[in-house]
Amino acid sequence: MRSASEREGVAAHIGGDRQQLGHGHLENVLAGTLLNAGRRTPDKVAIDAAAGPTTFGELDNLSAQFAHALVDRGVTRGDRVAVQLVKRPEVVALNIACARLGAIYVPLNSSYVDAEVGALLDDVAPALLVREDPLVHSTPRVGGDELIRGASRYPSAFVDAPCDDATPAAILFTSGTTGQPKGVVLTHGNLSFGCRTLNEAWEMSASDVLVHVLPLFHVHGLFVAAYCGVSSGATLRFLDGFDVADVVTALDGATVMMGVPTQYTRLLADERFTSEGVRSVRLFVSGSAPMLRRTHDDFLSRTGQRVLERYGMTETGMITANPLRGERRPDTVGPALPGVEVRVNGSPGEVEVRGPNVFNQYWNRPGLRESDFTPDGFFRTGDVGMLDRDGYLELVGRSRDLIITGGLNVYPKELEQLIDELPGVLESAVVGVPDDDFGECVTAVLVARPGEVLDVDDLRRRCRSVLAPFKIPKHFVVLDELPRNAMGKVEKARLRRDIVGVVASRPRHH
Ligand code: AMP
Repeated sequence: MRSASEREGVAAHIGGDRQQLGHGHLENVLAGTLLNAGRRTPDKVAIDAAAGPTTFGELDNLSAQFAHALVDRGVTRGDRVAVQLVKRPEVVALNIACARLGAIYVPLNSSYVDAEVGALLDDVAPALLVREDPLVHSTPRVGGDELIRGASRYPSAFVDAPCDDATPAAILFTSGTTGQPKGVVLTHGNLSFGCRTLNEAWEMSASDVLVHVLPLFHVHGLFVAAYCGVSSGATLRFLDGFDVADVVTALDGATVMMGVPTQYTRLLADERFTSEGVRSVRLFVSGSAPMLRRTHDDFLSRTGQRVLERYGMTETGMITANPLRGERRPDTVGPALPGVEVRVNGSPGEVEVRGPNVFNQYWNRPGLRESDFTPDGFFRTGDVGMLDRDGYLELVGRSRDLIITGGLNVYPKELEQLIDELPGVLESAVVGVPDDDFGECVTAVLVARPGEVLDVDDLRRRCRSVLAPFKIPKHFVVLDELPRNAMGKVEKARLRRDIVGVVASRPRHH
């Protein structure tokens, strides 16, 4: 953890940057952060997409035109603008437009169906919904194509509304792998701090070409990958979906890729992904879900490069990252980013975070503040981890995924790491399922490597030789694949629901 003087040093440094960029408090913090670098190179390509390139000048102009179009449709400062569009450069321009006029951008997962969208609209009561398909709802709607077609009618300059660090810029719904989605309010300060911190940590510059393979409705794709590219004057190569051949082509001549672990596993499963093909790439970043040590090692042997694993969440933006220069340790997410304070309450214990990156309210849920923050202002992440002597954080699971069996704690990640190394196992997820005797009983859900059949009795024997008896899974369930959300995170709540019935009908092993 950082000392107070180091923290002040970091804060002063960041403050200095801001002055250099000319962000006074009466200016628009986020629009400045996003647009300033590109204004030096208006003819350079900001986003390269299947439909063609968009230059920095075009992105800037389009964001101004969209800002006028939104005002024309009645959107004013503080209003929410909900957006459910397919990935395209115009989505970034629309996001910047909201920042410029002080509106709150609300990206919606593109797979949400009408009922889900309706419920989120009821919650945030936007002034406008931008979405192609009509929806039975009182929120006025405009289609993305219509908005884009109409944009040229408006001036390509816009006087940005003054917005300071505290002005809300976006509401993102937590991915909802458990329970009800909550709207996380992120401010101009949260987002621009994150942008500057990552650009500095990863030495992003106008000479970078970033392969963008993530959706734009999530923190990782929008506020990490897209923002790092746009705000540093780099070029983004947009890919929709994850087609290995397309990614391999896009990596040729690129310098950075940001992805989730499953994307790296898919690249490694394909022979077309070679060290020769990634010669130009200086940085591969992974986050949003844990990367298996095996994936990290396989990546190193295939490409000669170590993936840089980092950790963050919707409520906090990025928290820790392995270093760009320095030791990247597999199974860790690295030390706290500059300006961010991280502490762990126990060993292992809950990870707590404080800093300019951390949100301070859930939309429409004032009561949650008290339970989610410590009295001294640290956000309780719900992740459980350990800090080593050098300040590297190792995550062992979500606190709600912690299994308490017969009064003893079992951390799923410890078992998952071990089980993943057993013969024939491709991957695993360990969950607790309700049990009359034990409260919860440890259950391992396994996926076999292609073409292999898992011998559960053998696996159980092997577990016995390396694990204390209370940790040994009482049940092993073999599935074809683990349920994952759009960011590749295993949906443990769903998994528990899916396997409860299966497990209940089986005898328990001791
Ligand atoms: P989200 O709010 O959807 O971005 O999810 C945030 C959660 O993803 C965190 O609280 C962690 O549980 C998990 N997460 C993010 N990055 C990592 C990582 N590198 N390793 C393990 N878990 C991660």
